[in-house]
Amino acid sequence: MKRRDLIKYLSVAPLAGAAVGTGIPGIAEAAAAAPALAKRDVIKELGLRTFINAAGTYTTMTASLMHDEVVDTINESAKHFVMINEVQDKVGEKIAAMCKAEAAMVTAGCWSALVLGTAGVLTRMDRKKVALLPDLSTFEKTEVIVQKTHNVGYVHALTNTGIKPVEIETAEELEKAINSKTAMMWFLNSSGPLGKIKHEEWVAIGKKHNIPTMIDMAADVPPVENLWKYNQIGFDLVCVSGGKAMAGPQSAGILMGRKDLIAAARLSAPPSGGNIGRGMKVNKEEILGMYVAIEKYINQDHDKEWKMWEDRVALITNSAKKVDGVSTKVEVPPVANHTPKITVSWDQTKVKATPREIQKRLQDGSPSIETMGGRDGIDITVFMLKPGEEKIVARRLQEELTKAAVS
Ligand SMILES: *Cc1c(COP(=O)(O)O)cnc(C)c1O
Repeated sequence: MKRRDLIKYLSVAPLAGAAVGTGIPGIAEAAAAAPALAKRDVIKELGLRTFINAAGTYTTMTASLMHDEVVDTINESAKHFVMINEVQDKVGEKIAAMCKAEAAMVTAGCWSALVLGTAGVLTRMDRKKVALLPDLSTFEKTEVIVQKTHNVGYVHALTNTGIKPVEIETAEELEKAINSKTAMMWFLNSSGPLGKIKHEEWVAIGKKHNIPTMIDMAADVPPVENLWKYNQIGFDLVCVSGGKAMAGPQSAGILMGRKDLIAAARLSAPPSGGNIGRGMKVNKEEILGMYVAIEKYINQDHDKEWKMWEDRVALITNSAKKVDGVSTKVEVPPVANHTPKITVSWDQTKVKATPREIQKRLQDGSPSIETMGGRDGIDITVFMLKPGEEKIVARRLQEELTKAAVS
């Protein structure tokens, strides 16, 4: 039986072992060697659509792709037993040193860092309190102050612990809102430009009243300096996603800051049970993968990366603009995915298709391409593209715009 035929045969045989007794000479021996021949492709097997990610780091699209070093770390560590608390201790120390924080822990994403950090602030080292969360009826401190413009969906991570968010707008209102029930002051970095109170003032008021401050900077690297900037400004707790631009495991994030608060947060996290964080598990693979990912991220050449993004942007915009009536705009949001974003729009009397229609055609094409926007134009980011994919995006976009163009 030829190699090619064998692979075909194995793909229809229910089990490799079924080959025994087929009467075909040599098939059993060949089947024993089968794993090397027929590498399993589960994505194909299940008929899952893969695509070029020209959209960005979205949870719904599985966010980012891990580097080989991270995947190797996951594969290697998966072969050994270790004590999970020892992994957290060692990795926590390393990450804290890299980020100029007192202490750090790896969490199941930034959301989990928000929950566990808040839990730590509420319970400190009191295990009885840990077991009570989210029932705060016997707690003195039950409120978290947030600026009105920061009070968006992510606050649900905090309310998981039982706290009540208290909205304020000005520094004066903030001072008035602080009372004996105030447990924490929370800052959402992506809303930073919208709020009346900026980072430094927020932290200063927190310190003045001895109220811990926490910042959610989930999607706020790049720039890499943000990994230590908010620790240095003096936030007591800093929460960041591991699986966005840092390309760590998607189910990992980091909680860093004051040593006593990180120790307290760990009481609400696995491996301990009987707490609100027991379901937010990160195993050794993700913790070690996160460690390797953040180290790689900090040490990489960020200027070179930015230049590469600009080259990709130039390629895609120049190619789109060749179609009559098409224009492009490039912006870099100051926060929340601070990377170049292209918006492609067109005169619909010259290109007879809506942005949604072109978007759908890119999705349905081969290879499939995901983009964002769709109302007034198509939004494209280039930081999640694999090398070379920018050429495919440029070509496919130009093709679809040309097809729709009135000749
Ligand atoms: C993505 C995001 C989160 C959640 O982070 P995960 O790592 O997915 O848990 C929280 N806050 C903000 C602002 C985010 O952008």
